[in-house]
Amino acid sequence: MIKIAPAVVMLGQNSISVAKKIISVLPGAQLYGLAGRTSDVDVTFTEFGTTLRELFANGTPIIGICATGILIRTLAPLLANKRQEPPVLAVAEDGSAVVPLLGGLNGVNNLARQIASVLDVKPAITTTGDIRFGIALEDPPVGYRLANPEYAKSFMSDLLAGHSVRLEGDAPWLRNSSLPIDQNAERVIQITEKPVVSTSTRLVYHPATVAIGVSSTSPRFQHPSSLAGRGRGWGSEEIALVQQMLADAELAPASIAGVFASTLDAANPALQAIADALNVPIRFFTTDEIAAAMSQNNTADGAVAIALAASSGRLVMQRQLSDFNCAIALAPLPIDINTTGKPRGRLAIIGTGPGASDWMSPEVKEILRNATDLVGYSTYLGLLGFLGNDKRRHESDNREELARARMALDLAAEGRFVAVVSSGDPGIYAMAAAVFEVFDREAKPEWQGIEIQVAPGISAMQAAAAKIGAPLGHDFCAISLSDILKPWSIIEQRITAAAQADFVIAFYNPVSKQRLWQLAETRNILLRYRHPETTVVLARNLGRDGESVEVYTLEDLAPELADMRTVILVGSSKTRMIQRCDGSVWVYTPRRYDERKTP
Ligand code: SAH
Repeated sequence: MIKIAPAVVMLGQNSISVAKKIISVLPGAQLYGLAGRTSDVDVTFTEFGTTLRELFANGTPIIGICATGILIRTLAPLLANKRQEPPVLAVAEDGSAVVPLLGGLNGVNNLARQIASVLDVKPAITTTGDIRFGIALEDPPVGYRLANPEYAKSFMSDLLAGHSVRLEGDAPWLRNSSLPIDQNAERVIQITEKPVVSTSTRLVYHPATVAIGVSSTSPRFQHPSSLAGRGRGWGSEEIALVQQMLADAELAPASIAGVFASTLDAANPALQAIADALNVPIRFFTTDEIAAAMSQNNTADGAVAIALAASSGRLVMQRQLSDFNCAIALAPLPIDINTTGKPRGRLAIIGTGPGASDWMSPEVKEILRNATDLVGYSTYLGLLGFLGNDKRRHESDNREELARARMALDLAAEGRFVAVVSSGDPGIYAMAAAVFEVFDREAKPEWQGIEIQVAPGISAMQAAAAKIGAPLGHDFCAISLSDILKPWSIIEQRITAAAQADFVIAFYNPVSKQRLWQLAETRNILLRYRHPETTVVLARNLGRDGESVEVYTLEDLAPELADMRTVILVGSSKTRMIQRCDGSVWVYTPRRYDERKTP
């Protein structure tokens, strides 16, 4: 099973379309591109050899869109331990060939098949067992776990040498393979949910057929503060109960497909603790689905109904621990976790930085790769480029912030992975506060189980400062000149106070089409406290087409110089300008606030 997300490495921009196809079937894969030769990538590198060897050493699967020879020569010095090597594949630049090179024990052939299928070619598979029997014993399909991987290789060698094999239990992928099956054979492949002892002549696969249904009869939502005192150990009694049930029912933990529960219990941390302890996913059913399963199976027990709904099988055991109910059911076939119940919803409020991809954090890129839904102002979604492809988009007008936040929470409650997209930083005059405001005020029970995350971005004032030097080098503040959400009287007061306190001030939303006088008024207020020669930076379209960063003096600051995509930094009394011989200018605010030493 491949755990670390693969790196798709490209050396030139010609490979981009093949690279994107590959990435489309590999969730979480990162695109690596050679600096100066590629764009639109997640990671830019300059040293091919060092980068590749680092990835390999970390166990990252590598898909090089390049010649096999380059990969072989680069990685040759590191080829020591076959068990530990990650999959390495070469893909031809035009997508015509997919060549698995290394990592046979770690799923390289399956990866090659997956990539070849999206590129519509046949993978160049050379592993004898794979070719002769059509399967890789050490790398079973989703839904099966090999209990004794250490024996798979020798087991396969025995079969290749002429031994036959007996199947105990059933799995279509084994039954339909070209394995030399003979019911009298000494060698056995056993498919079972029972915890059996495996040996070198008995390979054991555990199918994902066990469903654990849980429900709680306690108050549906426990406020986090009521959990605070319970420390780390909480959930431990429930975990012990589930483990005891599995032992009593003689079921192997490796056969557990997942923990299943009601969406109304999603906020109950015991459920996640159980899933984490068993190292399995958790999935949720709606109250309607559970009610249907109750009547269909003629049971009043929620946990039983949930386990039966998840497994479409039979009930094995049911127990209760005060207000916690647990039922175990067994499915006739492995349970497909992707189509059974809904995952926990995720809501990520992300900041994309001012515009350019270079200024977008890897965390934000990772979220964009995995999100199913994007919510945001259409201009911001447009700025995402290919990172925003292949997702449900919920675009809207910039002003409907609260409605957008509500929609994002509702979508996440349905089990989707929603990214709410803001430019710059999501917590600075942007969507994060709107989401928390709606969450706080409306507090819908179905929102309580959502995993919420804020992923920061570079705000306009930081980007502007970086472009021009270090104007925010000492104390500063930010003021939005928009009077849509607050009265002008408050804004006026704040400007006055900030000017008196000699802060460097970053002005957001300085003007809009309908709103010009505020900036003129701002300058007038500032001039009461600051010298007319005070340095002012106007930065427009940072990180986007038409970027400009200009330096003026306070007395020259006029509304016509700014627009909606301008951030303005007004210096303090200490802010200074450096004029260089080539005509360029740097602005900085010294960190030392010592009257005697200030030049
Ligand atoms: N969350 C954003 C701010 C949104 S408010 C951030 O952290 O940057 C919108 C205001 O931000 C604009 O009116 C402008 O003042 C500023 N702004 C946003 N993006 C900008 C950019 N690329 N260049 C210059 N200013 C920008």
